[in-house]
Amino acid sequence: MIIDLRSDTVTKPTPEMLNAMMTAKVGDDVYKEDPTVNALEEKIATMFGKDQALFFPSGSMANQAAIKLHTQPGEQLIADQYAHVYNYEGGGVSFNSGVSCKLIEGKRGMITASQVEASINPPDFYHSPSTSLVCLENTTNKGGGACYDFEEIKNIKKVCNDHNLGYHLDGARLWNALVAKKENAKQYGAQFDTISVCLSKGLGAPIGSVLIGDEEMMKNAIRVRKILGGGMRQVGYLAAAGLYAIENHIDRLADDHKKAREIGNVLEALPFVKQVAPIDTNIVIFTIDGDEEEFISEMGSKDIHFYGMGQGKLRFVTHLNYTRDMHEYFLELLTSLKTNKAVQKI
Ligand SMILES: *Cc1c(COP(=O)(O)O)cnc(C)c1O
Repeated sequence: MIIDLRSDTVTKPTPEMLNAMMTAKVGDDVYKEDPTVNALEEKIATMFGKDQALFFPSGSMANQAAIKLHTQPGEQLIADQYAHVYNYEGGGVSFNSGVSCKLIEGKRGMITASQVEASINPPDFYHSPSTSLVCLENTTNKGGGACYDFEEIKNIKKVCNDHNLGYHLDGARLWNALVAKKENAKQYGAQFDTISVCLSKGLGAPIGSVLIGDEEMMKNAIRVRKILGGGMRQVGYLAAAGLYAIENHIDRLADDHKKAREIGNVLEALPFVKQVAPIDTNIVIFTIDGDEEEFISEMGSKDIHFYGMGQGKLRFVTHLNYTRDMHEYFLELLTSLKTNKAVQKI
């Protein structure tokens, strides 16, 4: 049994999802003639109470398009130091939009309204870049699946309004936050100017993200997507997987969260585990005494796969294809490490 806890992106479509894909009605989406893409976009726009949604091949492209829509070259955006848009999108912020990032040292990838306010460059101080956008992430990736307190999201919105800043949410794992905090998509639609959501993470579709916003904000979105190379043709086959996922795979995220907490509980009891970060959703981040590369390869030889995140942090991510059987086996295996000499020595 191979257990892959590297990421919630390693999932494969379920038979039912594949069936939805194979039977999808399609057309040329560059002409906006793909009925399945149109249905997915309409459904997601409605969920969030926004005018429009646009299907993208990846979350990075959706975020990068949003940043382009909100900014002009030379401007600056504000984000947490762990932000995906800054760390994991290949430097696209500067490459695509000519924009710099003011990074904030937040908590588990989350920033506060007062930190945002303190990071805005004075508009009349022409030596500094002009601040034009705030990007939040919910849940946070590098922050370990942490969920924002919704009140703070509202407080930051107020700062954005007061200073005329755009407000973008990188919601690659927003679904996890909605389930964990019992929130709904409309609440988020009411706060943010643009939101990107992933279909290919926890929801288990093979590909796809969606950018959501009101008409005025989105009027150039399709052009920007075209420039970035994201105009696709009979892509309803892929959108069908996303539609299926939206309808069938959101509520089950609670199961991933429960499994993550159970893994965390077992880790807490292991003598060589130093610290387990709080577990809000499906990501478990922990540190160990000893060499983490050795631990990763020791576990790899037992067919348990996961990543280190640098700075001594290790990460497990639960997902749709991490089954109950795998979970039971994995918890037993972890528990057995209490007395495993080979692991204890590291
Ligand atoms: C995965 C992820 C993305 C987008 O990733 P793609 O691989 O480009 O689809 C964006 N933001 C966060 C926080 C993510 O975790």
